[in-house]
Amino acid sequence: AAEASVRSVTILGATGSIGDSTMDLIRAAPERYKVEALTANSNVEGIVKLAKEFNARFVAVADESKGAELRAALAGTGIETGAGESAVTEAAARPADWVMAAVSGAAGLKPALAAVDRGATVALANKECLVCAGDFFMDRAAKAGACILPADSEHNALFQALASGSRDELTRVIITASGGPFRTWKAEDIEQATLAQALKHPNWSMGQKITIDSASMMNKGLEVIEASYLFALSSDEIDVLVHPQSIIHGMVEFTDMSVVAQLGSPDMRTPIAHCLGWPNRISKGRAAPLDLAKIGSLTFEAPDYARFPGLKLAYDALRTGSGATTVYNAANEIAVAAFIAGKIRFGAIARLVEATMNGWVRAGNLAPLSSADDAISVDHKARKLAASLLPEIAANAS
Ligand code: NAD
Ligand code: MG
Repeated sequence: AAEASVRSVTILGATGSIGDSTMDLIRAAPERYKVEALTANSNVEGIVKLAKEFNARFVAVADESKGAELRAALAGTGIETGAGESAVTEAAARPADWVMAAVSGAAGLKPALAAVDRGATVALANKECLVCAGDFFMDRAAKAGACILPADSEHNALFQALASGSRDELTRVIITASGGPFRTWKAEDIEQATLAQALKHPNWSMGQKITIDSASMMNKGLEVIEASYLFALSSDEIDVLVHPQSIIHGMVEFTDMSVVAQLGSPDMRTPIAHCLGWPNRISKGRAAPLDLAKIGSLTFEAPDYARFPGLKLAYDALRTGSGATTVYNAANEIAVAAFIAGKIRFGAIARLVEATMNGWVRAGNLAPLSSADDAISVDHKARKLAASLLPEIAANAS
């Protein structure tokens, strides 16, 4: 049977939080998986440990300066190594049946496309790459015969719920948001929030960038855009609902007003397991069962665009199209890095994104994207624009 055969897998971003959960699932059923390639940014120690444990065939680090260290650490093991951006892309291009795309940020675009172009099954955790290249990403996957499986919990929930009806029968989708650590905070307190406060997510344990995005609700903005591209939905077919317990991840409403939801503990192993097993279900390495009696109540709130303007900007970007979502993502990556570096206040993240989007439109730069080069070029130019606007945004309080 197909489910009993050994599957070759590649994990891009293996040393990260999604990488961790993915390796956990693979570790639990070693007879079913053969690791083709593993990649990291610069964490040589972490990737070497994984490479040896899983006997990977190829290991790459994006940081070129770490190449010699990686080679030395794996000398004599027979494991091939590579360093630099192109080595990460090479890892993705190698023949694995299943690829986890879990690099953080738009840096994950080229590797993800390399897996897509050879028609692989790609579990997509890296939402930024889809937001950056949404205009053509799914078309390109369809042409190559690649299968994109959403690993982001909300989109994985939608993917599962969508099976209950046809596209014509769909009226809208709802993705939930925990609301993050500042859900109940006043706007003036959010404005001044520290890095430590932004990194204290109530429900999920994740990488630094996505944790900050969750606090600003930029993550939910990226996810609205992600849902639009993944499932070919218009912006008014996608709603966000704040649900502090993070138990319901996504819902689909159909024409008869049935609403189908997917539930699970806030543990990324559940959506990743769905991608790893698909079209079957796996059981090894899974999350703890959901105990609703213990949780007691599920609550819901409307999102507050005034306190979380980044979410509103995502809808604007989606309606604008023609590269606007690429600009939204690029400006946010610059803003988050500036916030981490202590250059701007938390509240300035959304202001920088807004100023960058406005500047981009004013300069007449909007144009449809049709290739990776287009997307990468817009990404780079938008980063430059955001960086040039940074000093002014940093100087002005709200
Ligand atoms: P992380 O920061 O924990 O890990 C990122 C991984 O990518 C690491 O292995 C790192 O070495 C690698 N990496 C970083 N920059 C790179 C670069 N320039 N080139 C090549 N490799 C690079 O992040 P994470 O939380 O695991 O998130 C990864 C992706 O998955 C993000 O796009 C995030 O939005 C998405 N995601 C994460 C979660 C979660 O629970 N962590 C949930 C949904 C979606
Ligand atoms: Mg998510």
